[in-house]
Amino acid sequence: MPGATPADEGRAAGLPARRPVLPEIEAQRPIDALVVKLAARCNMACSYCYWFRDPSVMALPKRMGEDVAAQLIVRLREHILDHRLDRFTLVLHGGEPLLFGKGRFLSLGLAAEALAAETGCDIRLCITTNGLLIDEDRVLLFIRFRVAVTLSLDGPADQHDRVRFDLRGRPTYAKTVAALERLRAFGQEPGILAVADPSGDPDALLDHFVAELGLKELDVLIPDATADDAPPAIAPFFIGLFERWWTTYAAAGVRIRLFDAIIAGLVGASSGVESIGYGPVRAATISSDGAIEAHDVCRITGRMGAGLNLATDALDDIRATEPWRAIFDASLDLAPACRACPWAQVCGGGHIASRWSRANGFANASVYCADLKAVIAHIWARVAPELEFTMREPLHA
Ligand code: SF4
Repeated sequence: MPGATPADEGRAAGLPARRPVLPEIEAQRPIDALVVKLAARCNMACSYCYWFRDPSVMALPKRMGEDVAAQLIVRLREHILDHRLDRFTLVLHGGEPLLFGKGRFLSLGLAAEALAAETGCDIRLCITTNGLLIDEDRVLLFIRFRVAVTLSLDGPADQHDRVRFDLRGRPTYAKTVAALERLRAFGQEPGILAVADPSGDPDALLDHFVAELGLKELDVLIPDATADDAPPAIAPFFIGLFERWWTTYAAAGVRIRLFDAIIAGLVGASSGVESIGYGPVRAATISSDGAIEAHDVCRITGRMGAGLNLATDALDDIRATEPWRAIFDASLDLAPACRACPWAQVCGGGHIASRWSRANGFANASVYCADLKAVIAHIWARVAPELEFTMREPLHA
């Protein structure tokens, strides 16, 4: 197709039109979610963790102080009232966020609850944890404050224990599964986050999660890497995982967030996640010392510091800082190779950190570009015939 644009190529492949995104309108939207670093240490030492690649985290307070947590609520109150927000999400994170302690967690939950009652804003709490510290008290705290819990679990014991061990090098699979069972004993079903091992067996991973553990909702993350790294190929693993899901588990209602996001992008919708898909990255982070920072995972790029703190600055001040704006702009202004790519709506250039290099900043295609193209093309080839079939069916049979 001489002179064809990516949109032309996309249409030729049967893809729906791209969703328009208006950068200046997106940039004006107030922050509506924060990643809150309740702890800057962990009780585990996973082999792939991005957090401790930045040695400066060891200079941060181990746990967020009660004064900082109280200041967070003060700033959140002024932010919600200023912008008349009716929903806000606090993503409780670490290190290991449960190192924050039960008493502090109770105080934070009560303060968020009181703020929600005062402002009418639906303040949602989510937590991502390794589960090692989940006991009955903590389950009751999660229930009391309607905390959406996500457990990090990388697969069957041999797979999980190869990369996820405690500070003494001991395996952690059994403790994490015990946390899953403890939550279930109280009627709580957590989400599960696994980091993919591209050399692993995708069938064994999914069979373990679904057939053995009975999971219905999970996500399998692409390993963190920047464009300066040379990570192993991920396409064979993710294509294998998709096939197992599509042929064996999808019809039974099992959801894998990455595949949901890719299929959403393929039908022209927003992916709803930041790991894949075209759309603005607007994340902001509160560090355990109260610093207001840009996207947490960009710590691997060395671009976190914005010079802001809850003690002196408003939450929305982060939008005027160079690190936040650089990530926001890069999320919408894709690298030249991505602008010419028919999969750009679905892929969005890949995770923002996977596009970063010392030489070019964010102006690269994802380090996983070839793999992403292969995975997305495979999924489109499998899904498109089903869509065509569905669209030919009468709406009301
Ligand atoms: S990273 Fe590769 S697959 Fe993704 S949008 Fe860019 S060129 Fe396309």
